[in-house]
Amino acid sequence: MATNNIKIIELIEKTLTQNNIDYNSIIDGFGQLDASKKRGEGHEFTLSDHVKALLLSQLSNQRSWGGIAKNLKNLKIIFQDYNPEKLKESDTNYLLENIREIKCGNRKIKYQILNLRENIKQFEKIVTKYGSMDNFINLNSAEQTAELLSNPKSEYKIKELGFTLAMEYLRNVGVRSVKPDLHILRICGTDRLDLFPLKTNPLQATQIFNEFCKDIERNTTYVDNLVWIFGAKDYANICSKVPKCELCLLRTEGLCNFKNDNGLQ
Ligand code: SF4
Repeated sequence: MATNNIKIIELIEKTLTQNNIDYNSIIDGFGQLDASKKRGEGHEFTLSDHVKALLLSQLSNQRSWGGIAKNLKNLKIIFQDYNPEKLKESDTNYLLENIREIKCGNRKIKYQILNLRENIKQFEKIVTKYGSMDNFINLNSAEQTAELLSNPKSEYKIKELGFTLAMEYLRNVGVRSVKPDLHILRICGTDRLDLFPLKTNPLQATQIFNEFCKDIERNTTYVDNLVWIFGAKDYANICSKVPKCELCLLRTEGLCNFKNDNGLQ
């Protein structure tokens, strides 16, 4: 087990604590860690759980999560408890107007909603073939499943779901994994923690992150949530685009490559 890897995570935890960020409560609020524990205990996720997981992952597309997190109750009402039968019959204009009214949209919201019925039908086809979405997911690794759901050439393609969002969907139904988004790629990149080599693509980033978590014997979903909180604007906002290194313990321990415009850490 690499000592530095353990130290990196411990120092992120300490930095967050020192800056009064209650990361454990935030992670509990995300629900992904809890879902991963439930999956580990054999809990079966319903089709409705999978539809919810899909929609929440799509809503997170290229926007901050804070506004969505505040509106989870409203979204549950708008999406009619994520009931697949009701959603297939829903009026797309009604859904779009209500989502926009609570400012939970994103650049792709129109297409995500227009394709919702078709995506639910795609889930149902998978259920018919494999018995359940959980059975389908359990057949392959998270990365392979994400590829099957996001590759345009795949017979299981879900519309408006790229690889990164597919990883988010899988975490929402308790698969231990990482969503290799902007925050994770930036923080773990060569300019900062140097866990990912230059030009790492999302699939490679996922594999390296998984190995890192295996090495330190921590739940990948937990480590992903922790690192993400460390950088995200609506949360700690420390290792952000313009990082606040003066608040960070990784700097003093020499575990980060970041240099500001003056070449100083
Ligand atoms: S860039 Fe700054 S805030 Fe981010 S890990 Fe490095 S020292 Fe910490």
